[in-house]
Amino acid sequence: MMNLSTVIAYGCRYCTPPIKQLLNYTTLLHLPHHHHLHLQRRSPASIFYSSFNNLKLPNFSLLLTGNSLFFRMERFWSGNGVNKNKQMVEHLQHYGVISSKKVAEVMETVDRAFFVPDGTPPYVDSPMAIGYNATISAPHMHATCLQLLEENLQPGMHALDVGSGTGYLTACFAIMVGRQGRAVGVEHIPELVASSIENIKKCAAAPLLKEGSLSVHTGDGRQGWPECAPYDAIHVGAAAPEIPQPLLDQLKPGGRMVIPVGNIFQDLKVVDKNLDGSISIRSETSVRYVPLTSRDAQLRGY
Ligand code: SAH
Repeated sequence: MMNLSTVIAYGCRYCTPPIKQLLNYTTLLHLPHHHHLHLQRRSPASIFYSSFNNLKLPNFSLLLTGNSLFFRMERFWSGNGVNKNKQMVEHLQHYGVISSKKVAEVMETVDRAFFVPDGTPPYVDSPMAIGYNATISAPHMHATCLQLLEENLQPGMHALDVGSGTGYLTACFAIMVGRQGRAVGVEHIPELVASSIENIKKCAAAPLLKEGSLSVHTGDGRQGWPECAPYDAIHVGAAAPEIPQPLLDQLKPGGRMVIPVGNIFQDLKVVDKNLDGSISIRSETSVRYVPLTSRDAQLRGY
């Protein structure tokens, strides 16, 4: 059973919804539905979700506990995974998080259930702990990043996913750039690299992994992955104190990088390398991600 301090620490390590920023988990629980997307609203389990909705944090720990009766009930009612994944995407479309047809398609194609640890509800719009002080980002953050990068994920293009974690976004990138393109994940926890490869093998991107247009590597993502550079799209799944120069160097002119930058206060930055090589940066939204750091620093206290 996860204790309260774990829950709080974990709650601080998630990506905030684009709609409402700088709110912590506790605050989010008290927001109306349109702020915090309740993706299971129509299932019987959702009755339990909404009745937990007004409770304070200690009860919320039930939601984060893989062994709880609550989760067992959720699994019991979850039914057909493919339909539930589709429903999750439809909810994100309904709430205006996904406006791109292509992004909806790829998120429907890559079933999130293959990427979350056993006992974790896959279709709830929340980040989930994946071990090693890391999380799988919430579906709305995956959707946001895919949309920001969509133009740079055309067939044949090269995409780099730094801090690839579960491999979910790497798989989405690979499907979007196709077999003529190249999708590379870099993750510094070897166990996560191994499990992400297993996850990808179960999902719709498996043939691309087999054919070699998708690969995941163990390494310090702050150095990028020069072998397949330059990249049309770079996604960074962990917050950097500042934008690492090697990632800027490996961005193609005309390329785009999406990277959370900051420590306690973080902004999701959209970095465009113009055709003349100059760089334009804008802030998309405030977020909370795990830090882009050294392996030792990340595993401290784990
Ligand atoms: N997009 C991923 C996010 C995982 S959380 C997903 O949704 O599954 C961020 C990941 O960044 C963690 O897995 C963490 O281990 C990794 N990470 C942090 N610092 C890193 C670094 N310097 N190099 C590579 N990976 C790093």
